[in-house]
Amino acid sequence: ERSARRVAVSRRGHGWTRQTLQDRFDCVVGEPDELMAMDEAERASIAGFATLMSPVDAGLIDALPNLKIIASFGVGYDHVDAAHAAQRGVVVTHTPHVLDDEVADTAIGLLLNTLRELPRAEIWLRMGKWSSEGAYPLTPLTLRDRKVGIFGLGRIGMAVARRLEGFGVAIHYHNRSQRDDVAYPYHATLASLAHACDTLISVVPGTAQTRHAIDADILARLGPDGVLVNVGRGSVVDETALGEALRAGTIAAAGLDVFEDEPNVPQALLDAPNACLLPHVASASVHTRQAMGQLVIDNLAEWFERGTVRTPVPEAAHLVEGR
Ligand code: NDP
Repeated sequence: ERSARRVAVSRRGHGWTRQTLQDRFDCVVGEPDELMAMDEAERASIAGFATLMSPVDAGLIDALPNLKIIASFGVGYDHVDAAHAAQRGVVVTHTPHVLDDEVADTAIGLLLNTLRELPRAEIWLRMGKWSSEGAYPLTPLTLRDRKVGIFGLGRIGMAVARRLEGFGVAIHYHNRSQRDDVAYPYHATLASLAHACDTLISVVPGTAQTRHAIDADILARLGPDGVLVNVGRGSVVDETALGEALRAGTIAAAGLDVFEDEPNVPQALLDAPNACLLPHVASASVHTRQAMGQLVIDNLAEWFERGTVRTPVPEAAHLVEGR
């Protein structure tokens, strides 16, 4: 019976979650390649996989014949083949809601740092330039009078919008479908949003549809005062086009928390003085990462106790409905 609830946990990622899972479940710790290399009986003993950041592809799902649930750490699950899992009847869960405020806080911080050059101003102070050269130069950019477009007005996008209301800026948005609970101007296309705004905050998921959605044309529409902030997924931005737009002054600045090939950041972005770069830290506080980990644990526990889960991904919703 105990083997029927054996859980594999990825070796990488949030330590507290892994430790707590090991305390609560019969666990085997391993990265996908290690799990694939296990003998048949051992692979057949695994009923759940908690991925704290490791990719889960169709090959791994097929190699675990009794897998019932994949509990993924994080709200974005582009590293999990959720369509294949659903086809195999494997439930996938993620961690929505619990990180909305943290990620929105980071998005606002990144926006202000990008506009007002606060990280560079601090370096100025630390390098002794305040006393040797005087005041830090006035910043050409400001949040004042900006028109902000939110690309992806979902859970996190709404938390960003609520914060932006306090800053007194105009808020527009683009989703595939218009929301019926907000009065912000809706744009049916990203091109229309970028045309109407000078500031674009991207918080859409990384999907085949959103891949390179922010390209040279979208950036040009933001104009020479344009600012891009990306806290969604790196794949959404054509980084080559962005590097060129920052170099050529097609847009003024960018603030990025996510990159297409993490942890590799393109040299053109590293070289751009008008890029504010963060190492994917939007949800990375002890508080919020623990809340995300707790939800991973709760999803697994509820699955093994009652056959239900708290937060299935949309692809898995039909597998758990009515239970
Ligand atoms: P939601 O699903 O609540 O929101 C996503 C929004 O994007 C929805 O409003 C959706 O609207 C819109 N959207 C999705 N696909 C498209 C598309 N093809 N074109 C236009 N709009 C689209 O997700 P969350 O707000 O919870 O999270 C968003 C993403 O943020 C995550 O998927 C993750 O990748 C990223 N993230 C990054 C973090 C970081 O550390 N930097 C931390 C947390 C999340 P509609 O369906 O109407 O199109």
